[in-house]
Amino acid sequence: MESVLASKENTTIMSSAIKTVTVIGSGTMGNGICHVFAQNGFNVHMMDINQAAMDKALATIGKNMDRQVAKGSLTEEAKNKAMSLISTYTSMEEAVKDCDLVVEAATENIDLKLNIFQQLDKFCPPHCILATNTSSISITRIGSYTKRPGQVIGMHFFNPVPVMKLVEVINGYATTTEVTNTVFTLAQNIGKVPCIVNDYPGFISNRILMPMINEAVLALQEGVAGITEIDAIMKLGMAHPMGPLQLADFIGLDTCYSIMHVLHMGFGNQKYAPATLLANMVQAGYLGVKSGEGFYKYTPGSKELVVSERFTSKK
Ligand code: NAD
Repeated sequence: MESVLASKENTTIMSSAIKTVTVIGSGTMGNGICHVFAQNGFNVHMMDINQAAMDKALATIGKNMDRQVAKGSLTEEAKNKAMSLISTYTSMEEAVKDCDLVVEAATENIDLKLNIFQQLDKFCPPHCILATNTSSISITRIGSYTKRPGQVIGMHFFNPVPVMKLVEVINGYATTTEVTNTVFTLAQNIGKVPCIVNDYPGFISNRILMPMINEAVLALQEGVAGITEIDAIMKLGMAHPMGPLQLADFIGLDTCYSIMHVLHMGFGNQKYAPATLLANMVQAGYLGVKSGEGFYKYTPGSKELVVSERFTSKK
């Protein structure tokens, strides 16, 4: 592990000098992050180990921009310009060699991310800021796997990225004030509202959100109420736009499980133990919207919310 003090003297790029952004991972979050940067005029390098994932991401971005065109919030010309700014790569070295900022949005797995950041540190230009969209993994730990921990920061977007305004900006222990200021201004420049927080498990958003989702799964597992009732109570009673079980499907049950695991390990407190039902669903491959079924079943093209048969037929 490298010293977290090693990179204090590295020079910091101003937000206005950031022209090329590489996004690592083109899944649920990566495609949205590419969308927003391209729409705001940045050169976007989309990088994934899976070409099929990038093909799907480009199609999703195109479809989402078409929706903006239909609503009148984007012109056809601006859409075409934005799409032309995105290029795809399966080689990390190629994707990052001339970039000013990396936003890593690969699968939420600590070993995977530590490995990615070691590679990024090797291949990115010295001035480049390395941001991660991790939902819960320690920014300080990720930074310690690079020789530039002062330039490693959390840039946590929310799903769907083109719609959600918040960016949680997370300072690692070694992150420099200049890097925080650059990322804060950049987030504002792409139309987002940044909020700065410190590096503790789950930061603020998931430290509060995930235990609520996990509690909803525990209540379901204990038979306190059904899926429809749990989600309706939180929607109608607490004015949440979506119930916690639907939201879990939307986030991805594997992502929810990983975040609970990080909270559980990070705080060493049993109250954060992931619900057994959540673990079982993830192990069985029922991951929510992205796999077609979680607490609800999803049919392409249908907006109807249908509870998964696994919960209706077993009673
Ligand atoms: P996802 O499973 O939809 O996509 C992950 C992508 O990463 C896949 O396309 C996969 O092929 C790619 N990938 C895996 N290993 C890679 C590697 N070595 N190099 C390049 N690409 C690689 O995941 P997601 O939901 O988009 O989550 C991505 C990150 O964003 C995670 O850290 C997650 O915690 C965070 N996040 C997710 C949400 C959400 O609502 N899903 C919200 C905020 C933050």
